[in-house]
Amino acid sequence: MLKLDNHPSGRHFLHIPGPSPVPPRVLRAISYQTIDHRGPEFGEFGLKVLSGIQKIFQTKQPVIIYSASGTGAWEGALVNVLNPGDRVLFYETGQFANLWRALAKRIGLEPEVIGKAGQDTWRWGVDASLIEERLRKDSAHEIKAVCVVHNETSTGVTSNIAAVRKAIDAAKHPALLLVDSVSGLGSAEYRHDEWGADVTVSGSQKGLMLPPGIGFNALSARAIEVSKSIKTPKSYWAWDEILESNKTGFWPTTPSTNLMYGLHEAMDMMMSEGLDNIFARHKRLAEACRHAVTAWGLENQCLDTDCYSPVLTCIATPEGMDADALRKHALTKFNLSLGTGLGKIKGKAFRIGHLGDCNELNLMAALSGVEMSLGAMGFKPKASGVVAAQEFFK
Ligand code: PLP
Repeated sequence: MLKLDNHPSGRHFLHIPGPSPVPPRVLRAISYQTIDHRGPEFGEFGLKVLSGIQKIFQTKQPVIIYSASGTGAWEGALVNVLNPGDRVLFYETGQFANLWRALAKRIGLEPEVIGKAGQDTWRWGVDASLIEERLRKDSAHEIKAVCVVHNETSTGVTSNIAAVRKAIDAAKHPALLLVDSVSGLGSAEYRHDEWGADVTVSGSQKGLMLPPGIGFNALSARAIEVSKSIKTPKSYWAWDEILESNKTGFWPTTPSTNLMYGLHEAMDMMMSEGLDNIFARHKRLAEACRHAVTAWGLENQCLDTDCYSPVLTCIATPEGMDADALRKHALTKFNLSLGTGLGKIKGKAFRIGHLGDCNELNLMAALSGVEMSLGAMGFKPKASGVVAAQEFFK
């Protein structure tokens, strides 16, 4: 059996790009006694949580809260606004864009993938002009939605969502804009209303500093309107009954009461820090991490200087170094968890998460662990990444 309390002295350094560490305040809130989810106390609490989460998405429209991981929320978004056989445009940015597309295929949609020809799409942000170009050609309006990942967790690339909305509008195309901000929300700037997203999908275990288990769909008025005529069979994911129940702070099924206690607490913490301060903190941590990568003489997976992720940094290992051997060393020797390379970059890259409840010294610990592990792999860095990050923070 897994012995979670059997750890060496000190603490575990969880630096994967989500789940991210859960602050003690949030853990304590989660441990409050579970209450009657149909009682008056819960209704009042439910309304507070529903209005709080709108502030995090920066929306005035409803946000659906599912007891599900991000994948469930992906499915929820698709089945509510698309009919079986609908054509959907997916921009390939990495493993998560691909997984969402595979899910779409499995549930009977017709995904079409785009990305820049001749470019490794796993290293660049979304090129909105390609979306515009493709939509202009679709004069019959067969494409019903455009799906993009805001923060691609597999590569550390954050795309410009407002530019995608502009591209759809410039093409005068009615496709809905569906955005995955599972790992962006709460860490990277995100403005659901201003940027014109129709559905934004997210999850609890990244910038919101919660354990996994809650998934979100932030909606637009248009998405709600479209959903009313959609024929795709669904029950648990259907927005209509949830929206009706949510009016009084309840859910048609049993909500994740204790995770919602945690969500309430986390949102309180986030509002007292201020969203803009949170975004600036993440950018600063990411920049320090990039200074370390440059000093080591390693390559950032993200080549797009406008699209560096504030959430995580994905680092390519030098030829001949197994990234998973490096990660194994960091874990066994220093109790540091780093993210594995996913999909086609497995073994060739690792990821440092600097999201959620993370500050300068948390990051410095992770960078120290990486630097020592690189040394153990026989790698001779150009210079100390730890010192470079320290200089940046001074
Ligand atoms: N989308 C992105 C960008 C993610 O990072 C993840 C998970 O890491 C998912 C979707 C899938 O979410 P989950 O694993 O919670 O189902």
